[in-house]
Amino acid sequence: MPEEIRLCPLCGHDHSTLFDRREHLGRLVCNRLCSRCGLIFQSPRMTAAEAEAHYAAEYRRAVQGREGPTDKDLDFQSRRAALLTAFLQRKVRRLERCLDIGCSSGLFLQRVQEAYGAQVVGVEPSEAYRAYARERGLEVHASLDEVEAGGRRFDLVSLIHVLEHLPDPVGYLTRLRERLLAADGWLLVEVPNVYIHTSFEYEHLYSFSRRTLTETLRKAGFRLVAVRIQGRPISQLFPFYITALARPLAGPPRRFRIRPERGAARKRLLGAIFQIFVTQRFPKRWWLLIDVNSYQDTPKV
Ligand SMILES: [Zn+2]
Repeated sequence: MPEEIRLCPLCGHDHSTLFDRREHLGRLVCNRLCSRCGLIFQSPRMTAAEAEAHYAAEYRRAVQGREGPTDKDLDFQSRRAALLTAFLQRKVRRLERCLDIGCSSGLFLQRVQEAYGAQVVGVEPSEAYRAYARERGLEVHASLDEVEAGGRRFDLVSLIHVLEHLPDPVGYLTRLRERLLAADGWLLVEVPNVYIHTSFEYEHLYSFSRRTLTETLRKAGFRLVAVRIQGRPISQLFPFYITALARPLAGPPRRFRIRPERGAARKRLLGAIFQIFVTQRFPKRWWLLIDVNSYQDTPKV
């Protein structure tokens, strides 16, 4: 039975309204908007047990279909890894130990290793992707518990298209800050931008805006250092992604006062109108990539 989320996972408010209702993967997906803070969260949503079964089934499909990542997937990941590394290099001069959670084929870790000469570690639940990364000499674990057991601290922890899948983002980020991130370390997060991305997928338990992502980071005891909203490697024009760089505070804020997001429905509508206008006005130019069709079924977009 799906789990109903009665209290807002960010501000604890008990009132929300239906924001979006659609079918995805043959399932009804309902997203709600918190009436106080403007967080968009899925409810009802899959339970922890259902999530485990769902991701396991996805894995089975992946291994039945192929042995590992496809060329188009690797090409996409390589482009994203280059963009993320360039974003990091604007603010971060030195890195010695880096942890990427949901590291996929490990291309971002490899980039960081080359750029900073850092030791890199990944966590990847998919066995096929983990095997691919390990074959290329990377240290990749199946779970965060395995990394924690090693007792190491990292000066960069990254979550690239991971946070929106987690049942408790604030709790998870707090755990990273307390147990894995160095006191003067960096956190790098990228999520879909709810105002332009078709974000309402069965696996996305949250759909963030810049404000709700920032507030999630603040509540978990981080301060935002830099944020970028843009659409590459998919699009030059549509800002599909929010990338945030943050640093840990000494602890979570003692009295956390939420700074609410306003006008979510209007902003999402404006995003949709903008997409329609641009695709009609520039039918061939809005995609940066030449082979558009090859990217339409990339699962982590
Ligand atoms: Zn709320």
